[in-house]
Amino acid sequence: MLLARHQLDMLFAHAATGSTEVCGILTGRAWPGVVVESVIAARNVHPQPQRHFLLDAATLLQADHAARVRGHTIIGFYHSHPNGLALPSALDHREAWPQLLTVIIAVEQGRPRCLSAWRCADTMLQPEPIEIHAGVMPLAAEA
Ligand SMILES: [Zn+2]
Repeated sequence: MLLARHQLDMLFAHAATGSTEVCGILTGRAWPGVVVESVIAARNVHPQPQRHFLLDAATLLQADHAARVRGHTIIGFYHSHPNGLALPSALDHREAWPQLLTVIIAVEQGRPRCLSAWRCADTMLQPEPIEIHAGVMPLAAEA
């Protein structure tokens, strides 16, 4: 997964905003390699946001539409683990969408510590390598 430095900063900034889990959507290019184009923060509408997350549906639909207009797609979702590890929980495994990425940001006492990415394959989350690059990738300009 290719992630720009400023997108990483956005993920960490969002994760630092609350004591509950934060969540959002990643859109971009899924093939031949996964490239993140947009990081879209969503509201966590789960009734127990300290330990769970549920993306609000309106943001999900808007993100899907905005991505399609640009020839992109939803490539995954992110959420934080306040005072937890950047490892998928049993529920994260169960609820992952096939082929999409699950990005987890570990937060310790309000400070984002690290981030991991996982791909759902055969109903299990497998580690997905993350490559951080300095700027905006010229998605359409690559010949
Ligand atoms: Zn989780």
